Amino acid sequence: MSLFVVFMGAGTFFEAVYYPERMRLAVLLYGVEAGVAIAGVALGRLRRFDAWSEPIAVGIGAAEMACVCAYHAMVGAQAERVATILGCLLNLLSVLCPWGWTAQVGVAFGAVASFGVAAPFLVTADAVVFPGTVLLGAATTSVWATFFLDRYRFDAFTHAALQTEETEIAAALARIGETLSRHLGQADVLDQVNDLTRDALGCDWSSLYLFDPQRCVYWLASNVGSPPDVKAELAQLEFPPTSLALLQALKPGALIEIGDADDQSWVPAALLRRLAAASVLFAPVVRGEQIIGVLAVGYVGRRGAFASRQRRLALGIAHVAATTLENRRLIADLQSANRLKSEFVATMSHELRTPINVIMGYTEMLADRSVLIDEPAFDETLGRIRTQSVELLNLVSATLDMGRLEAGRESLTLDAVAIEPLFAELAHELDALTPPSVQLRWRNDVDRVAIVSDRVKLKTILKNLVGNALKFTSAGTVDVTAQRIDRSVRFTVRDTGIGIATEHLSMIFEMFRQVDASSTRTFGGVGLGLHIARRLAELLGGGIVVESVVGAGSVFVVTFPVERAADRLAS
Ligand code: ADP
Repeated sequence: MSLFVVFMGAGTFFEAVYYPERMRLAVLLYGVEAGVAIAGVALGRLRRFDAWSEPIAVGIGAAEMACVCAYHAMVGAQAERVATILGCLLNLLSVLCPWGWTAQVGVAFGAVASFGVAAPFLVTADAVVFPGTVLLGAATTSVWATFFLDRYRFDAFTHAALQTEETEIAAALARIGETLSRHLGQADVLDQVNDLTRDALGCDWSSLYLFDPQRCVYWLASNVGSPPDVKAELAQLEFPPTSLALLQALKPGALIEIGDADDQSWVPAALLRRLAAASVLFAPVVRGEQIIGVLAVGYVGRRGAFASRQRRLALGIAHVAATTLENRRLIADLQSANRLKSEFVATMSHELRTPINVIMGYTEMLADRSVLIDEPAFDETLGRIRTQSVELLNLVSATLDMGRLEAGRESLTLDAVAIEPLFAELAHELDALTPPSVQLRWRNDVDRVAIVSDRVKLKTILKNLVGNALKFTSAGTVDVTAQRIDRSVRFTVRDTGIGIATEHLSMIFEMFRQVDASSTRTFGGVGLGLHIARRLAELLGGGIVVESVVGAGSVFVVTFPVERAADRLAS
């Protein structure tokens, strides 16, 4: 409009110089043209006419051209001159105004129509049809020019916009990843995930639900932004996957969007209303191919579709959240391993020192001749030294076995193993550990033919199980039986000791785990025996199961497949 006002001003000036008699009318029409231009610009700037800016611009363009035609008709000017001015104006508008071909058709039509109305009053050297054709040509080319220009402008714009969106999303995700890794070891890392999600998407609230595979439910791990009463309610809720259509439809990498809580079938509308959610975007949190949680982000009041930027950010953040959860789990595992290691070192030092102290005490008594060879206490003292030495040796052997197993250096040495001599050997070695009021009984139901197995490993397994039974039984019996079941052999160690509570049954096989790991515990040990026994049983192709009743006793059953030595030798 400024360009139009400036050039029309110059034109009016020269018009007045060359045709002084037209001056008054020229200035008057220029005033009207400038007034239309200024009024149009002012109108376009008003906020409430934002949606009308294009029709306003088309109206101003057409009005200006009508003014040009009106002036020239009034002064009876040449039609060629009018056609030239209108043609220039149309092409100027097509280049400068990013308004699309439909708007250009509007101004082109206005120009041609005004020319048509003014034509009878214009003069021309030959016929008015020639300048008319020129104007029609200019009007048509200006529409085509607008069409092509508009297409290029649109492509360039969307390309630039996409690139900007891409850069913004990448920057936001990098920022989020960096912030989360800074908070990784802290308790509030999941709140951070929600905080960053809410800010990045510009939503009202964000929640992270995690899947608990044991109980098979989704539960709220953290929420940021929901009203306090909603938060309190959410913390009480648990969602089995079958409870909501939404949870059943979740797929790795696919978002689910609720644009309007009242118009969807994913989640009951009443529930969403209760949870102050008008629109929600759900992004699955995935580890491998497994869905381990859901990131839900939404608005309290706003309804409508989410922008593509928000959708892409939500997916990206869910991905970052999965990595954060995985790292958090690793850190927790490391911390627990570290704690176990410290406990192990403490227990180990205590367990090693106790028998050494006892052995040293008794040997000093013997060295001081406090007990003499011919006294009955002499044999008892020697017996105690032997018992403590055996325990010490067992402890060191268990630790060495563990080291070998952990290093993966343990291999099978198969041989013919006869059960009877094995039982006799064990009975002799465990004799020193048997409390006076406990009866240790051995029973072999396997036929006399030897089995093929790894003798050393089998012996370690049985020694650990029977050693435990003797340790945790103060009175009663410890029964060890061997049976053949089809192509397997089964060893059962049954005691009448203190028993193990059901909730501890699964953890006692873990490394360094004891039911009572306190420093004031009654029983010795470092928590390796059962772990080693199970690992060795697995190495032999079998396993160990346990049943126990607190106060009544425990039964450990080891089963593994065997071949008869005779069969094997024959083959
Ligand atoms: P340790 O005996 O050195 O403590 P184990 O791995 O052999 O370690 O056993 C782990 C734990 O399992 C023991 O500390 C004890 O609490 C429990 N346990 C094992 N065997 C028995 C048993 N026969 N009776 C009662 N508790 C047992």
